Amino acid sequence: MNNKRDPIEDLAHLRHEFGEHGGVNMSIEASTTFTVIDPKTMPDLFEGRKGPAKGCYLYGRHFNPTVFNLGRQMAALAGTEAGYCTASGMAAISGAILGLCNAGDEIVASNTIYGGSYALLHDFLPAKARIRTTFVDITDLDAVTNAITARTKLVFTESISNPTLRLANMPRLAAIAHERGMPLVVDNTFSPLLLRPATLGADIVVHSITKFISGASDVIAGAVCGSESFIGQLMDLHMGPLMLLGPTMDPHVAANVSLRIPHLPLRMAAHGERALQLSRRLDALGLNVSYPGLPQHPDHELFNELRSSEYGYGGVLTLDVGDAETANELMSHLQNEQRFGYLAVSLGYFDTLMSCSGSSTSSELSDDDKAAAGISPGLVRMAVGYTGTLEQRWGQLLAALEDTGIVKAGKAQART
Ligand code: PLP
Repeated sequence: MNNKRDPIEDLAHLRHEFGEHGGVNMSIEASTTFTVIDPKTMPDLFEGRKGPAKGCYLYGRHFNPTVFNLGRQMAALAGTEAGYCTASGMAAISGAILGLCNAGDEIVASNTIYGGSYALLHDFLPAKARIRTTFVDITDLDAVTNAITARTKLVFTESISNPTLRLANMPRLAAIAHERGMPLVVDNTFSPLLLRPATLGADIVVHSITKFISGASDVIAGAVCGSESFIGQLMDLHMGPLMLLGPTMDPHVAANVSLRIPHLPLRMAAHGERALQLSRRLDALGLNVSYPGLPQHPDHELFNELRSSEYGYGGVLTLDVGDAETANELMSHLQNEQRFGYLAVSLGYFDTLMSCSGSSTSSELSDDDKAAAGISPGLVRMAVGYTGTLEQRWGQLLAALEDTGIVKAGKAQART
């Protein structure tokens, strides 16, 4: 499935909300409160008869013009009717879930998701709100179907699982969810643009903007994208989790992020190209590398069906070096001796970020749950950056692999 239209072009008109003095960039609306000329407008705003869609604003935690504009851009990117920007990816995920579930409800979720999302579903929501989750292998569609009960309110998955890089079959999952009258909620943090879950059947798409969309590891932000009515529900004065828990985005952050969206396609393509080249070379050395762009990846064909081909296969690869000690030694060499990248969590940065998932971003999972999810102790997640030349970075990676004994010195030359 190749969506020919460039979604960035589709949202270009939204960026052309000119600045106050005709500036090419929109102005930052720094006000937390907004005046009304006619006092009768105030009840109209509170009772929802007037709102941002009609150019009427009330209070910044509710809607702010700059944040609202970025929300519309995120919706255009995701392919949904509406979007709301939040202070973090976790705020987007928890807001979407609390918008769909009440106490006593259930969720069916992928067993391989970001550790924070896992802790939210596994620990926090049952304890705080009696919302329980059944975790399943999301690639096993029968398991998903069988886990759904009369109390299930949504199916939750990441488009590409963190950190195992399995692809959710979103059209099939959407069909399963829709047949039972519930939405499919997809966290598309790993694959903006290259996968567009809403065009593949997802009803609600959540993002950590902190990662690829920001691109510079300097902003914590998120977004929920879905129908007008769902976003409206999240903002309800009485029951809206985004309205009442208050995780709104700061307008300065919204203006800042908006300036990065035009070059998101270039960055996604560059991350993907570099990750593909490094994966191929690691694979040629006989190492245990996983990347959706490699033909032997279990979801390679599905990926080809679902992705927009101009953006590659994503910027994350994993390398399993067997045990945590070797993984730590490798990452330490890569950062401290070779300057290949940083030993740091997160992804979507212009330089490479590396972490051992089992002891970092998936440490919330028990050892058994990690094993079930396929997260082995020596699994190094590399969020591949695009700085430096390919040969320079490959030289650094190879030197570290040789210095740590993962690859025998000279073996690489023998293979090339
Ligand atoms: N979703 C995924 C897939 C993530 O990897 C992360 C963070 O690492 C999050 C959500 C949470 O995002 P944030 O840190 O912006 O709250």
